[in-house]
Amino acid sequence: AGSPPKYTRILLKLSGEALAGGKPHGFDRPAMQAVADALAPVLAAGVQVGLVVGGGNLFRGLPAAADGGDRATADYIGMLATVMNALALHEVLERAGLAARVMSALPVTGVAEPFVRVKALAHLAAGKVVLFGGGIGNPYFTTDTAACLRAIDIGAQLLLKATKVDGVYDVDPLRNTTARRYEQLDYDEVLARHLGVMDATAVALAREHALPVRVFDMNSRGALLRIVHGEPVGTLMGP
Ligand code: UDP
Repeated sequence: AGSPPKYTRILLKLSGEALAGGKPHGFDRPAMQAVADALAPVLAAGVQVGLVVGGGNLFRGLPAAADGGDRATADYIGMLATVMNALALHEVLERAGLAARVMSALPVTGVAEPFVRVKALAHLAAGKVVLFGGGIGNPYFTTDTAACLRAIDIGAQLLLKATKVDGVYDVDPLRNTTARRYEQLDYDEVLARHLGVMDATAVALAREHALPVRVFDMNSRGALLRIVHGEPVGTLMGP
């Protein structure tokens, strides 16, 4: 790990669940501390890190709409949930000695800077982790799409999507002992085989910009650091 990293600017996508640990809902301090612990050596290696966090541990628009709520309103609540997660994680990162800033695509000026691309780039260049809250700021989208968009915006060389499993499988590995993990996939295979890597909007955006996406298990110790050094951890979706 003493060698220079392969990637110098990355975008990490964490689902809201990653902040909840094993809990069904809310925040789990040790889980959030684990994110800080994983990021520390990556930042120390000089890698610039943007981070998009989801909101699933607090609120998701789609089930709320299915329950009879107005979809757009439900999605705005979901976006606010992602801002709450960004604030919670920001505090944990700062406490761990990692400089960070929250930027939101949805204006919430009392608690977060508005997303301004050139300012985000300046924060990154100063070694600060930029937490992008509020998704893309529009209903009908997901934070996976926001992660692709921000990765492209900041010129990240790689999008890292943290999941509960260590990559992309042909069938659900939690239910199927014969499931096989893909080492590499192209965007069209992901779409054609309906592999739940990301939603189709996000995959199409990544494909359009030839953005490589690595799916990996955030709970696997040292995985993030190995990835930025170019090791083939998890599954790579790319051109
Ligand atoms: N959301 C949205 N627009 C966006 C991003 C998110 O409307 O650009 C809403 C949507 O309702 C979504 C919720 O925010 O369900 C939380 O995000 P997501 O489900 O992507 O979080 P994750 O599953 O990654 O925890």
